[in-house]
Amino acid sequence: MTPAHDAPKPARIRLLGAPHSVQAFEIRDFLSRSGVAYDWLELDGAASQALAGVQPVDSARLPVCEFPDGTRIDAATVPAVAARLGWITTPRLATYDVSIYGAGPAGLSAAVYAASEGLKTVLVERQAIGGQAGSSSLIENYLGFPQGVSGAELAERARQQAARFGVDILQLREGVYATFRDDGIHVDMADGSHLAARVNICATGIEWRRLRLENEDRLLGAGVFYGAGASEAPMCQGETVYVVGGGNSAGQAAMHFSAYAHAVVMLVRGNSLADTLSDYLVRKIAATANVRVVTHCEVAALQGEGSLQAITVRDRQTGKEETLPTRHLFVCIGGLPNTDWARDTPIARDSAGYLLTGADVLAAATPASPWPLQRPPYHLETSVPGSFAIGDVRHGSIKRVATAVGEGAMAVAFVHQYLHQA
Ligand SMILES: Cc1cc2nc3c(=O)[nH]c(=O)nc-3n(C[C@H](O)[C@H](O)[C@H](O)COP(=O)(O)OP(=O)(O)OC[C@H]3O[C@@H](n4cnc5c(N)ncnc54)[C@H](O)[C@@H]3O)c2cc1C
Repeated sequence: MTPAHDAPKPARIRLLGAPHSVQAFEIRDFLSRSGVAYDWLELDGAASQALAGVQPVDSARLPVCEFPDGTRIDAATVPAVAARLGWITTPRLATYDVSIYGAGPAGLSAAVYAASEGLKTVLVERQAIGGQAGSSSLIENYLGFPQGVSGAELAERARQQAARFGVDILQLREGVYATFRDDGIHVDMADGSHLAARVNICATGIEWRRLRLENEDRLLGAGVFYGAGASEAPMCQGETVYVVGGGNSAGQAAMHFSAYAHAVVMLVRGNSLADTLSDYLVRKIAATANVRVVTHCEVAALQGEGSLQAITVRDRQTGKEETLPTRHLFVCIGGLPNTDWARDTPIARDSAGYLLTGADVLAAATPASPWPLQRPPYHLETSVPGSFAIGDVRHGSIKRVATAVGEGAMAVAFVHQYLHQA
């Protein structure tokens, strides 16, 4: 990190970068999901730098992140920005009562309840606080917010609440492997460190399903985005953007972009939105003039060198293909559970990878891998006693913010019962 010399100090964080820079997108996405206000300045050569009134910046040093105190990070990355914001911390304790993996609504809720009830709690998050909900532009069906609330705001409020109750929040850390012993759970982290706790709550949620198309990885963050991509909306002014998917997240994304883009086209595999979308969103979309829904279709190809230039859309009934120019494609086609870390552990998963809990654990138990205790598993307990699963990662979950939050609170009640019996 360097001082920004005599450059004027920005009033809030300012990010300077090249158009279609994947690194800059990652920082924008991280900041907006974390509820941090920032200004984005797109620099396309020396002329645009002069026009924007910024000191000349060597393109190799982009993206640059400037902070209100006058410091700046060259060749900025998400970990460097998070560290500068004071969000990368180390565990204070050798062993916690409860370790919670995943800081979406489920993990945040569990953390708040656990710490508020006196348990030494650590919350581990590999990306931004808020999980999927953090990428939602407006959650309209969560109790207590009649005008809706942005996912980033809800997450930031929950983060503050957890911190106030003394939760240790370890951000940009990822649990990659777990070992269960009599004294609790021992987790290997991606950075090589280890974390131990008497009880564990897994709230690792789901991550976006991919289109599985050629060029997809290369164009990720450079025109192709997963999820609502809330940070990208201001860049869609005057454009036609495409949203793939027919679920609530796709519907919300379409509504969000409709306020910025010239036109939003929803590409849906099924015959109608009504089969997959909440009624309130179906009505909103029908009433929004610049949102168009194209049914029974799929994206067949992505074109573009440095960034997305066009997509090919195939009609699933006729097989006819059409190539459409666009610079923005948002993919919201459901997810896959984040349970790779459980692959070689005794934690039972269903065929899609979701974690089994409660009665489902007993139903799946076999003589070769029986449930090990006299008592049945608690409702949110996995096949390993003392290890719980909550929210979207759980087999049979409802996939709503409210249910994730409710399960977080419930799990803590079971944690108490488990610890009292242990
Ligand atoms: C765009 C969008 C809009 C939505 N709108 C609504 C809505 O209006 N109303 C509603 O009720 N629901 C809505 N949902 C659904 C809702 O957001 C989810 O059901 C909810 O976020 C699930 O919470 P969760 O905590 O279980 O999981 P997630 O939100 O998926 O959070 C899981 C977290 O775990 C982290 N993680 C994963 N693996 C690891 C690991 N190994 N170590 C550490 N951390 C890890 C992830 O980075 C993530 O932050 C929406 C979802 C999306 C994507």
